[in-house]
Amino acid sequence: MHELSIVQSIIGIAEEQVRKANAKTVDAIELEIGALAGIEWEALDFAWQAGVPQTVLAHATRSIHRIPARTRCSACALEFESAEWFAPCPNCGEILGDLIQGRELRVKTLVVS
Ligand SMILES: [Zn+2]
Repeated sequence: MHELSIVQSIIGIAEEQVRKANAKTVDAIELEIGALAGIEWEALDFAWQAGVPQTVLAHATRSIHRIPARTRCSACALEFESAEWFAPCPNCGEILGDLIQGRELRVKTLVVS
């Protein structure tokens, strides 16, 4: 289950920030996760419950922003929201496009104290 390793790397980021700020704990954490980042929400939640106790994130308020996937058509350059990797362009039907957002997986903000 790779969600557990994702949670562990988030914990690593949080611990580093707490150390840098000379703080003790994290009050709030905001994550940005793209719709096509390959994250299963239930698995992430489960991994969070399993991994976070005893860490600096144990009492943090967590919020997650889901970023919709957007594709730019390689034929007509239209940008459109796409629910999957190879979504056809709604304007011209081309299926080869560039995914311009939707793969994000990052810590947006971290409030320490
Ligand atoms: Zn197009």
